[in-house]
Amino acid sequence: MALYRDDGVVLRNYKLGEADRIIVLFTRTRGKVRAVAKGVRRTKSKFGSRLEPASILHAQFYEGRNLDIVTQAETLTVLPQLRSDLSRYGRAAVMLEIVDQITEDGGVQPALYKLLTGALAELDRNGNPLVLPAFVVKILALEGVQPLLDSCVSCETADNLIAIDIAQGGVLCRACRAGEPISDIARAALQAIMDGRVRYVLDSTDDQTARQLESLSARMIEQHLERRLRSSPVVDQHLTQ
Ligand SMILES: [Zn+2]
Repeated sequence: MALYRDDGVVLRNYKLGEADRIIVLFTRTRGKVRAVAKGVRRTKSKFGSRLEPASILHAQFYEGRNLDIVTQAETLTVLPQLRSDLSRYGRAAVMLEIVDQITEDGGVQPALYKLLTGALAELDRNGNPLVLPAFVVKILALEGVQPLLDSCVSCETADNLIAIDIAQGGVLCRACRAGEPISDIARAALQAIMDGRVRYVLDSTDDQTARQLESLSARMIEQHLERRLRSSPVVDQHLTQ
């Protein structure tokens, strides 16, 4: 059996048989990996507690015929605030679910790995509700579907941009308006996140705008994930015909 080591984030885990768990990890160099952790439900071990969702680990695996087996794990980044604060942990859970849904087993995505580990560490340091929208906007950019924010998606004017329509993929001017209203401050914050000025946005955005963007980004990612879920079976069918 081949042995390998990799860094990874635990996305989720579930029970297997009487005593084991299957750990779903998003790893740095092997993409999403499912691995069995043997005996972790029988005893309360440090090893078992390191395999909880949102843990960032360095782990050792044996390559199995079907599933790999995780045999050792060390915590790489300790996230104390994230574990003790329910609202931060809730946001982390959303991030993990998004990554789980957009990745396939074995699909290596270094940029996504960096984004996820960075966002979890930021969430641990910073309870700001904007951490999640910043993560979502960057995910959408990685997926090639970032919203258009600097001109109207319908008529392309850059003036009087007052609405955003998630279904149309961006902002709209007063004449074309659809979807929901968006303030200049909220639009500028989203644009700054896309331009990589996340730190500035986290420090300068007011709480009300942050909460607006949090709810808007949740709907953006939902729509994107639904679209992916709807479209993938069609693609598969097409490929197998
Ligand atoms: Zn327009």
